Amino acid sequence: MSQDHCPLIIAIDGPAGAGKSTVAARLAARFGLLNLETGAMYRAFALKALTQGLDPGNADALEQLAAGTQIQLLPTPSGNRVLLDGEDVTARIRQPEVTYAASQVSVHPAIRRWMVDLQRQLGAKGGIVMEGRDIGTVVFPHADIKIFLDASPEARSERRYAQSGGAGSQQAVLQEIRERDERDRTRAQSPLRPAADAVVIDSTSLTLDEVVAKIEALITARMAAR
Ligand code: C5P
Repeated sequence: MSQDHCPLIIAIDGPAGAGKSTVAARLAARFGLLNLETGAMYRAFALKALTQGLDPGNADALEQLAAGTQIQLLPTPSGNRVLLDGEDVTARIRQPEVTYAASQVSVHPAIRRWMVDLQRQLGAKGGIVMEGRDIGTVVFPHADIKIFLDASPEARSERRYAQSGGAGSQQAVLQEIRERDERDRTRAQSPLRPAADAVVIDSTSLTLDEVVAKIEALITARMAAR
């Protein structure tokens, strides 16, 4: 099915390691949607702040930096490519120090407003599955389908640890996930929480295939009802 026939907006939110990216990629391929990973945008900005030696807690300095920053998200069948001021930073934004800094810079309201504007522009035509923390609550509150994908911190750290091929310790991954959860859930602006009309899926004891099948059924029903 081409995007022209499917201008749906699907929002997938949830904490780190819940499986959002993998699920979103599968849905995008299945329904011919663009898959947009908003976390990659916060990561790209965090990379720039780190490279310039800025304190991720300094809201004013970050806001100034944002004014001269261009972030582009290019969806491809193998995932999103991310350009920071025209430079491809797709691999670099996955480094652990960038992950940590992304979670810090994303608490600042001015940075979030800037990102939300960019994300709305990217998704304006529909035909997208957008994943992040605030897509169903803030970026696209009128999304056709909202999923909040959750799992226990232990299950999420186990998956992340397995994905990393056993780098570091699982305890350290669990600790990092708990810290990011805490920051995402308690920040004043657009904290991580399910939208009132989101379908909450707890993937702790579900396989990826089971999660994808549940959401596919929701999308198919929604498309049939249009
Ligand atoms: O999803 P990912 O782990 O790549 O996101 C990196 C960080 O960016 C998250 O820990 C979160 O703090 C922040 N983020 C956010 N809002 C989004 C997407 C990501 O605050 N929509």
